Amino acid sequence: MIELHIGDSVTLKKKHPCGGHEWSVTRLGADIGLQCTTCSRRILLPRSELELKLKQKTSTAGPTF
Ligand SMILES: [Zn+2]
Repeated sequence: MIELHIGDSVTLKKKHPCGGHEWSVTRLGADIGLQCTTCSRRILLPRSELELKLKQKTSTAGPTF
């Protein structure tokens, strides 16, 4: 299971239609909220689906976030 925190940056296997592929984590829970860092669009994905689509976690929010 991938450990996620608000503010983490993640890359998904599939590009967003806007061309961006990096997302920041905005919400945690049964559904994970992601915001596209290119077009600022927000989506919600069930955690299980996100784990399938996730390519890599590119950065971690600092402990003071
Ligand atoms: Zn986008």
